[in-house]
Amino acid sequence: MGGCNENGKGETQHGKSSAKKCAKSCCCISHGIRSSHTTHRSARRRAVYRGEQKNDAKERTRSLWQTRCDASTEGRWTHRLIRDLRVWSRRKHGELCFHPTQILTGHGCFGSYLHKIGKKVTSGCHHCSAENDDAEHTAFDCPAWNHSKKYILGVNPLTTINMIPAMLESAEAWTACTRFAVCIMQEKEEAERDREKRSRTS
Ligand SMILES: [Zn+2]
Repeated sequence: MGGCNENGKGETQHGKSSAKKCAKSCCCISHGIRSSHTTHRSARRRAVYRGEQKNDAKERTRSLWQTRCDASTEGRWTHRLIRDLRVWSRRKHGELCFHPTQILTGHGCFGSYLHKIGKKVTSGCHHCSAENDDAEHTAFDCPAWNHSKKYILGVNPLTTINMIPAMLESAEAWTACTRFAVCIMQEKEEAERDREKRSRTS
């Protein structure tokens, strides 16, 4: 039997024929193995996605997720900002880090949130006279953070309506809004730590 590693030069006709047969055989075996693997993998995926193609299953899950969020009474602030979860989850750029997540969820260093979880007596803003300091007030209304708007010149004035569409449209706007959120929240956290320290020592 001729092997697959025969040198092509100086081959006899029989050798060439054997090599061709061998190559064909190798190809079939290789193809068979690949096909077998592919079939097995596809079967596994179909099982995981209940017989659906992966992308179809993803889209169905996104639509279900959207319907539930539209109907829910929870997370209304996030829903106001991220109106279409399908577009949000299909984005090709943009990682969410800690401080922008605080802005998007309203869970973080905001008077209203700290008041809600029992860490503060009132929900007012320490940086202006507003009686309610929440994520909306912090990111869009509080005059104390006007200096941070230098980061978002491309999407200024920033509103609850245009922020997410701008972030989804370009990586530059995503980065700008992220820097804006990080700058504000870091300053707020530092001020909050100072207040806590003062209250402990007084
Ligand atoms: Zn304020």
